[in-house]
Amino acid sequence: MSFTVRFILSDGLCVSCSLCCNGTLFSRLAISQQEADRLEGDIEVFTRNEKLRMRLPCPQLGNDGACGCYLQRPKTCRTYRCQLLKRNERGAIPNADALAIVKDLHAMQDKAKSAAIDATPGPERRKGNTNAAQAMRALKTARSKHPEEIDKYLFQNAEFHFETFVRYVRLHLQPNFRKEK
Ligand code: SF4
Ligand code: SF4
Repeated sequence: MSFTVRFILSDGLCVSCSLCCNGTLFSRLAISQQEADRLEGDIEVFTRNEKLRMRLPCPQLGNDGACGCYLQRPKTCRTYRCQLLKRNERGAIPNADALAIVKDLHAMQDKAKSAAIDATPGPERRKGNTNAAQAMRALKTARSKHPEEIDKYLFQNAEFHFETFVRYVRLHLQPNFRKEK
């Protein structure tokens, strides 16, 4: 990627956020075979309901939040806009406020993740390392296998922080986040 493109991206709200690329909002995205062929790197493509999908977190996402294949990114990535981005683009929320919301979202996710990891005993603890939802899933798996090892207070604390994060995502990014389809 050229310096120019990376520089332009680094000014954007999405580069500070990445939640729709890093596996937080979605675990997969729709992709065509031609798009998959164009992407370099370690992407995982699979079929679901007879349609091609790419597994998230996306390996094209850089540590700096920039897309490593910005000019070649799939149509799904070109067209997706969360509520916050739409509001920001039409001037309904200033950049500084939108960036503050993104910062809060990351802090809430970190808090929910560490609360779930703290509450998880045994080998399941290692499995919850990617995001808050995974950490919560690992905690619930541990509870179903070893209920006697779960500290009730720590479990409730983890649930509280996770639900707080989920509500904030629904409010600002994606109203149907983690709702039954
Ligand atoms: S969730 Fe919204 S603000 Fe965040 S990267 Fe995706 S489109 Fe951009
Ligand atoms: S290809 Fe780029 S925009 Fe699409 S999910 Fe990956 S990092 Fe995000």
